Amino acid sequence: MKIIELPYIEGGTPARVNRKTGTIYLNKTVFDKFPPLYKKFILAHEECHYIFQTKDEEMCDSYAMYKLLKEGHKPKEIIDVLIKTLSNSRLHYARKLNLLNNMRIYDYVVNKNKNALKPI
Ligand SMILES: [Zn+2]
Repeated sequence: MKIIELPYIEGGTPARVNRKTGTIYLNKTVFDKFPPLYKKFILAHEECHYIFQTKDEEMCDSYAMYKLLKEGHKPKEIIDVLIKTLSNSRLHYARKLNLLNNMRIYDYVVNKNKNALKPI
């Protein structure tokens, strides 16, 4: 997938993908401030919009989460960076909660981590 860096994108989103072409546009003003793991998360999220031809934000958050896990990142490392980086706006709160719950399920089922059963 082609990546084009722009100085700014209207609306302040860190990245956007053209679902027809698969080109990812990065908002350098916002994107460059993020930690490396969150940058990877964003790119995987945008890739999902293209691969699955979907507008579903939570689905693409989950896709990005599983992709980082598959690359060997630890659940705690991923969750820590997401909690720190995703804003507390109403929209992001719902997405954060969804990711946390998906990660708890993964950590319990795959890693057999009983701590994942503790409520957040
Ligand atoms: Zn998205």
